[in-house]
Amino acid sequence: MPELPEVAAIADYVRGAAVGTTIRRVDVAALSVLKTYSPGPADLVGAEVTDSERIGKYFVLRARTAAGESVAMVVHLSRAGWLRWSAKLPSTPLRPGGKSPIALRVHVGPPGQGFDLTEAGTQKRLAVWIVRDPAEVEMLASLGPDALAVSRDEFAAILAASRSQLKTVLRDQRVIAGIGNAYSDEILHTARLSPFASAKGLNAEAVTRLYEAMRSELDDAVARSVGQHVATLKAEKRSGMAVHGRTGSPCPVCGDTVREVSLYDRSFQYCPTCQTGGKILADRRMSRLLK
Ligand SMILES: [Zn+2]
Repeated sequence: MPELPEVAAIADYVRGAAVGTTIRRVDVAALSVLKTYSPGPADLVGAEVTDSERIGKYFVLRARTAAGESVAMVVHLSRAGWLRWSAKLPSTPLRPGGKSPIALRVHVGPPGQGFDLTEAGTQKRLAVWIVRDPAEVEMLASLGPDALAVSRDEFAAILAASRSQLKTVLRDQRVIAGIGNAYSDEILHTARLSPFASAKGLNAEAVTRLYEAMRSELDDAVARSVGQHVATLKAEKRSGMAVHGRTGSPCPVCGDTVREVSLYDRSFQYCPTCQTGGKILADRRMSRLLK
């Protein structure tokens, strides 16, 4: 799932390739991704791209129509969505309703180029809004402060007001925007805090440690990701992880075995020695199997 660093890199790449060029065509293969009707994809055609940016985990392409009106495409890549830039897009139209992972194609940038929004798997959650102003998208309007913009004191106030565990707080976009399952694992590992620790129970020193871990993990990941070709981003994200997705591997800090907790349809990882004083957290899936 693309999080703040990957979406920042995607926005950066598209900015370099598309700003100042005209949207030549928009093909929609999966109508279900479109969450708005008017303006529609046809309103983007002929518009000049003015900016490409990241808001939380959302990718936003801003353009201006020939009539001088603002129009924006807001994209939530969700869990299995991706943006794939192509130096040579096929000119044949996309076939709607096919089995292809391509949901929407935008011909933009230098002639022949553009990008596909793709989604793997059967759970279709990729979402695209076409709006005059991104603030019209309710999910964007309800985002908490950005993880890279929030101050240490604002962050402390957010934690103090929360009734949730740290893992939940970090991933809640309405509380703090940009972090998902992978980077929350990494941030908690760097801060040496349990994912199940109570947010409001942290002392001032632990709040500072968590804040600094959040900034350094995200800054480092953005620095590694921005400038990469979109195609290599997923591998870059995986290679930078200390605990996330590394169940059974040694922790790079202390050598203990990275453990996993499974909840519902997702799992997360942590290091017992670094984060929970050696305690192995109950894994619902495992306990069910052992019964
Ligand atoms: Zn460790």
